[in-house]
Amino acid sequence: MEKIMPVNQTEEKIRINKSELERKCRYDIDKENGFKDRKRLNIKLSDSLYRLGEKDRADRCRSCGTPIWYEAVYKDGVFSRGKFKSAWFCEDRLCALCSWNKYRKMRKNLSDIVDYLYNDTEEYSFILLTLTVSGRITGENLNSEYDNIERAWTALRKSKEFNSFSLGFFKATEITVNYGELKNRLIIYHPHIHAIVAVKKDSYRTQGECDILQKTLTSAWGRITGKYINPDKGVNVKPVAEGTEDYSELMKQTLETAAYVGKGDINDKDCKEYTKIFSQQNAVIDSTVSTLSKVLKNRHAMAMGGVFQKARKELKIERMDDCKDVEELAGTTAEDETAEINTLNGVVRKAIVQFQWYNSMGGNYVMTNVELVD
Ligand SMILES: [Zn+2]
Repeated sequence: MEKIMPVNQTEEKIRINKSELERKCRYDIDKENGFKDRKRLNIKLSDSLYRLGEKDRADRCRSCGTPIWYEAVYKDGVFSRGKFKSAWFCEDRLCALCSWNKYRKMRKNLSDIVDYLYNDTEEYSFILLTLTVSGRITGENLNSEYDNIERAWTALRKSKEFNSFSLGFFKATEITVNYGELKNRLIIYHPHIHAIVAVKKDSYRTQGECDILQKTLTSAWGRITGKYINPDKGVNVKPVAEGTEDYSELMKQTLETAAYVGKGDINDKDCKEYTKIFSQQNAVIDSTVSTLSKVLKNRHAMAMGGVFQKARKELKIERMDDCKDVEELAGTTAEDETAEINTLNGVVRKAIVQFQWYNSMGGNYVMTNVELVD
């Protein structure tokens, strides 16, 4: 690879050190957004889909996030750290790369809604609700159990117990996979619901109050599902930001909670769930991919109601989680420097750096083009 590339500009000569520029984008690819590890998992999904005979979906998935473009701003003889600019994303429900984009989008939208409800209306506090069902759910009965838990949720949110405290909710159904019984050839699935619920301001602010609510909801959840609900594990109620008066700390905790509730499907931010699935043997991966694909098809993992829905309309949020405009969610390094450089001399030069995915050596992004723009 050519190391130094002189580029003629009208005012000055910019010398691009390509390997330096590549290094500056690598930070984001390897760490900040972690696209490299996620693309490796995406390739494993694509391989599995080929084995399962889903060629079109596998092809789509393989094209996800390659090529990928970065932007670095030139200032004082050096380039800023590369900032993600654009790429095409497949939006497959099981794609680890897309799950990261959806997770960040969800976190942003949900925190905007919570911030709006908290700051603009000053009428609400929030609690966090988790609902689970016990029992060993295998691939064969996951579909019907998923239906059951969704039906039970609908019944719960219409119940007098729920409406005695809820002024609105956002909920997501998440499925986790357990390989602990693989020696018995069993893959166990665990569908469960996370919800953030708006309550009257300054109510349910202590864990003690939430414990009382938890008891009420445990018996309602048991009645609705017709199942035994473990009093310690079946239903969990927690105040968001218990006993906190400091606004920034309160918002920080609300954001963390919003991100947690935003986990639909298996949108895990640390990629632990995907890594667990795709480090299994091929037959196990294929069984999991096939089961989850069938169950998630034509289903929405997320729903909202009451004041959450009103706030969403007010804020004109159309889709809660997709891969559109994700560059706005990227780190602010390059953006900050752009603002600064504009005020200095009114001229901005940027390098647009293209990377493509190559599958050899475990798979990695390789820098394939550099273009200099004003
Ligand atoms: Zn994707």
